Amino acid sequence: YSPAIEKIVFWLNKAITVAENDKQKDALQKLVKFYQTGDLKDFDTYSIAWVKDIDSRIDVVNGFIEVYGDATGKRGSYESVVSLRDMEATKRIAAIAKEAQWFEDNSPLMPEHKKKTVTGISAKVITAIVEAGDAAPSTPIGINLPNSNWIRQKHGSKSVSLGNIVYSYNVVGAKSPSMKEFAFSQEIIDRAKQYGALAGELHTDMHEVIGHASGKINDGVGTPDLTLKNYANTLEEARADLVALYYIMDPKLVEIGVMPSLEVGKAEYDNYILNGMMLQLNRLDLGDQLEEAHMRNRQINASWAYEKGKKDNVIERVTKDGKTYFKINDYNKLRTIFGELLKEIQRIKSEGDYKAATALVEGYGVKVDQALHKEVKERFSKLNIAPYKGFVQPKLVAVMDGDKIKDVKVEYPTSYESQMLGFGKEYSFLPNKN
Ligand SMILES: [Zn+2]
Repeated sequence: YSPAIEKIVFWLNKAITVAENDKQKDALQKLVKFYQTGDLKDFDTYSIAWVKDIDSRIDVVNGFIEVYGDATGKRGSYESVVSLRDMEATKRIAAIAKEAQWFEDNSPLMPEHKKKTVTGISAKVITAIVEAGDAAPSTPIGINLPNSNWIRQKHGSKSVSLGNIVYSYNVVGAKSPSMKEFAFSQEIIDRAKQYGALAGELHTDMHEVIGHASGKINDGVGTPDLTLKNYANTLEEARADLVALYYIMDPKLVEIGVMPSLEVGKAEYDNYILNGMMLQLNRLDLGDQLEEAHMRNRQINASWAYEKGKKDNVIERVTKDGKTYFKINDYNKLRTIFGELLKEIQRIKSEGDYKAATALVEGYGVKVDQALHKEVKERFSKLNIAPYKGFVQPKLVAVMDGDKIKDVKVEYPTSYESQMLGFGKEYSFLPNKN
């Protein structure tokens, strides 16, 4: 991988010369050192420096970061995200981060699994400028790094919501015919139109800021990649989602001014149950099982809640004109059920209970209801919507004044194929078979 990594180092060295401040410069230098030595200790040193750089307007995620693509949860995929802080939207996420201790204290976790003091959560909304590697063309909507538990506990973490990406999804989503096809009533469709976008933004904010950051592991218990192994990622995503789901129906959010009413929470519940029980199945081929961590987590949360609430008819499975619908009858009870599952998943993480982790993931998050899957695919096929969305990267062109850059022009290529072929031609530093 040297020929490609040498190019990364080349450009990082250029970035060091125009760093905004000393902290950013220090972090970039440490990242270069990691790429040169390949030593994981150097990556930890870099990650600590990166977490401390909270004032820079421009930021970058760069490295072998996420392990979602590796079944053993060990090997990180290369990604890079260059971003610009959105000052206005950051006020919303900051209002949540400011109350992080309140959210921890009032969560349904067992007292011994709560953090006594929530430290160093730095939260911001960013505009993604360019994404590469694992982060493109299919992009994350939120980022919470570093992944090392011990660095997070000792030095804190950065929580980021990708504002322009979330916005684009919401604009496209508002026009999507899928809600009309799959939602049980006009009331749900109207609520989604009015509050769906804000609900999505708040869910992402809370998932990253108070979700991943919450809870603690018992003394003497190893980190989840050691204790929960192949189930660690799925359960970590489930846990963060459940924190967001639990609090999006809390009047506290109205009180701190980030949402107008609990209708926003209801819109999120409608959407989450619909997606977890049905919509996301459209991404799978018939006969396949769920493999990806986020997809598994959504089905676990939705189907566990459906089952636990069955005796009280909290979520109702309805068939109308031969079509299946999931309809929420009691939003407050559903909130309580989400809280119970959150408590249990935190217990599994805190105690490193591999047996319970296996039962939960294999029991709720892997197998697909074949008949329902077939129905979802058939209903979607008539709507002509792609199951995944991807982004074309803007092209940044330097405007020169002699040998100085005086401005940067942003150009938007219109074709994904031609962009990919262009990337292949200009940036293919490794052999096709490596
Ligand atoms: Zn997450």
